[in-house]
Amino acid sequence: MGEGQSRREILAGSSAALLTAALPACGRAQEAPKRKLGYAIVGLGSYATRQIMPRLKDCESAKLVALVSGTPEKLERFGSEYGIPKTHRYSYANYDRIRDNPDIDIVYVVLPNSLHAEYAIRASQAGKHVLCEKPMAVSSAECEAMIAAAKKAGKKLMIGYRCHFETYNRHGIELIKSGFIGTPKLITSEHGFNAQPNQWRLDRPLSGGGSMMDIGIYSLNAARYLTREEPFEVYAMESTDKSDPRFRNVEDRIDWQIRFPSGALAMCASSYSSNHNNWRATGTEGWVGMEPATGYEGHQMWTRKQGRTEQVALPAPAKNQFVAQLDHMAECAMGGREPIVSGEEGLRDMRLIEAIYRSARENKPIRVGGA
Ligand code: NDP
Repeated sequence: MGEGQSRREILAGSSAALLTAALPACGRAQEAPKRKLGYAIVGLGSYATRQIMPRLKDCESAKLVALVSGTPEKLERFGSEYGIPKTHRYSYANYDRIRDNPDIDIVYVVLPNSLHAEYAIRASQAGKHVLCEKPMAVSSAECEAMIAAAKKAGKKLMIGYRCHFETYNRHGIELIKSGFIGTPKLITSEHGFNAQPNQWRLDRPLSGGGSMMDIGIYSLNAARYLTREEPFEVYAMESTDKSDPRFRNVEDRIDWQIRFPSGALAMCASSYSSNHNNWRATGTEGWVGMEPATGYEGHQMWTRKQGRTEQVALPAPAKNQFVAQLDHMAECAMGGREPIVSGEEGLRDMRLIEAIYRSARENKPIRVGGA
């Protein structure tokens, strides 16, 4: 965090104490659940098996009841590990039979990006609520079709924007909302990692795009949740070394600016060839920033105000971001509330991603509505 590091202090008062209590109860049960809702996990890859499935046992409103996979060996292995009976294990071919399984309330789509729309829509058509990983899909038209399918089924649709459930990110949102940094003027956010070759993320038909779709979306979404505004203009620049075999058909680096109606500006970066994970919101009175900002754990936050830089240390939450996200979906499904990160939220990001790509291609700012 540059300047902040030399003078940082573990926070013992000011911003954290002031606002921790004000965190919304999102992710905590707001009404006593009658039963735990059942999740079916679709796609038993890295994120599903390492981050999501182990967390379901910690949920108070949800549990794991079914698995969907194209790999019979995974169905056998994870089915045994999690005690999922054979009747609740599905292939992609017989996936639509989830319709006949009343134990499945929510389908969590954790597939490569270009498969999100199809499997989310089929789940809605089977009468299930849907939690779908980010990016919501690979085009705004697909996002609109997913929203329409969920509406038609009268079921919920939520996107896996887990940072909205992460304590420090939530605290940052609350700090800015409270006026701690004054009027927000500049958001910076960079996200990136060194992409390993030979994976679906580098294969456009499965990924829908390069780093922007996968990791840059964290910078974009942060700019929106920190300002709580919708941009009216984007201006982007792509830099991809096409001689690198990883980037034959997807972009490596993309940098963009977005302008908000209040006058705030966001400068964002996305990369598949360097490591970044941060955001900072600077206003007329000070700043708040995080690095790492959006990882699975180890979040760190600093604030600066009146010439004083402090590191913020928040108490451990009752639920980590994964558990809070899974419970939130179940509680929305049960209680009829809209998820805080609904399909519309995913659609807004996808429209902006399309504008960012177009701006980079045409080398000009693109109006996106808003002001
Ligand atoms: P993986 O490659 O690890 O897993 C994807 C799984 O999808 C595969 O293991 C496979 O499961 C299934 N699959 C079905 N068809 C294909 C295909 N044609 N090619 C490859 N896999 C296929 O990916 P991740 O788990 O890392 O990512 C999955 C989704 O989750 C992505 O949309 C990604 O953006 C999102 N994600 C979100 C994160 C977050 O923090 N919110 C973090 C990481 C990923 P099976 O063998 O069971 O069929």
